[in-house]
Amino acid sequence: MVQRKFWTRRPTKMHNKTMLFAALFSALPFTMLPAFAGTIRQVAASDGAVVIQFDDVVSKATVFALARPDRIAIDVSGATAGLNSLAGGPVSNVRQGQLDSNTARIVLDLAQPAVVTGGTFSEDGKILRLSVRSAGASEFSGTLGRGKTEIAPPLAFRAEPPKRRYEVSAPIRTGVAKGLPTVSGPADSKLPLVVIDAGHGGHDPGAISPHGGKREKDVTLAIAKAVRSEMLKTGRVRVALTRDTDKFLVLEDRFEIARKMKADLFISIHADSAENPEANGGTVYTLSEVASDRQAQRLAARENKANIINGVNLGGADANVSSILIDLTQRETMNVSADFAKLLLREAKPNMRIRTNSHRFASFIVLKAPDTPSILFETGYLSNADDVDFLASVEGQQKVARSVANAIQVHFARRLASR
Ligand code: ZN
Repeated sequence: MVQRKFWTRRPTKMHNKTMLFAALFSALPFTMLPAFAGTIRQVAASDGAVVIQFDDVVSKATVFALARPDRIAIDVSGATAGLNSLAGGPVSNVRQGQLDSNTARIVLDLAQPAVVTGGTFSEDGKILRLSVRSAGASEFSGTLGRGKTEIAPPLAFRAEPPKRRYEVSAPIRTGVAKGLPTVSGPADSKLPLVVIDAGHGGHDPGAISPHGGKREKDVTLAIAKAVRSEMLKTGRVRVALTRDTDKFLVLEDRFEIARKMKADLFISIHADSAENPEANGGTVYTLSEVASDRQAQRLAARENKANIINGVNLGGADANVSSILIDLTQRETMNVSADFAKLLLREAKPNMRIRTNSHRFASFIVLKAPDTPSILFETGYLSNADDVDFLASVEGQQKVARSVANAIQVHFARRLASR
């Protein structure tokens, strides 16, 4: 993957999430068409200044600070990331990447705390000069709460923001646009919120069983609803479904719903299919850019295809964005997801068939919300006669639902206890 060269992965924790995620996701629900895009010719950091040169006009720059590790980020809209970066002064490393089709992100890794004290564009709008100076740790952390600073080029040399448009006819992206799903359960916002995502839907049936033609989208919806009823019985959690009808949602909308609702847990329900009719049992997946095995990788590729209709990708994230998302993913989110995956398998084993090697990793788009612990539950194989009987039956669905609901209860009880 090419972008690794520009986006050095850092195994460090990242805590200052709110601001960053707002920036990260604000552009994702829509596909942007760049009007004019200046490419970054060079980012040069030295003592006292960071100078960014573009080969054409850009729309604006947004500057903000991030802690642990200490960084300064600059999002330039109307710009494309380049390759040429020079570190210097308090900046130990410069990274460039594409946040979305219209926005380049520059990250300055700081060797020591530093603050941006000002910034201006040149008269032709093609050079942005930021004044940067070393600062004490407390002064740096003071800038964290201050949010973002926007710097615009002179009006006559400003790239027009791209027009927002839908890639395919508008009704498809109904998920987030039409408002968030209703929350069921006690009206107490302090109770944890779980978002259950019934995989596929609408024009996308998912896997279709060779035994009686059962469709994955119907099975997942039935299971999601069963999970909701099981959880509501406990009175201790709130629940929302990304969809409770037969409708299509792109993968990014699914996790975006969970993020917007500030969900504590996101569970995407699926059912697999395989060439081998003997393959059976459930598997829990969590996010990793490196798949745990070939099968997991192929499955992720198949599930990620839900975004593609008639060759048109409805999703907002391209390969670069995906990589940045992973780069910024909190280790903690991943740890919580992995813990929940183990718990779910433990709770599911007495109730249903589970595969050996049942916790696997792959790069599922639907799991890429960096701040929401997320798992994908492949509940079994529609290509297996016994599995499909189980998953399509009310009894089987209830067993799956009970497993999920039990795991959720234990999960939140543990988290409460550890506080
Ligand atoms: Zn699926």
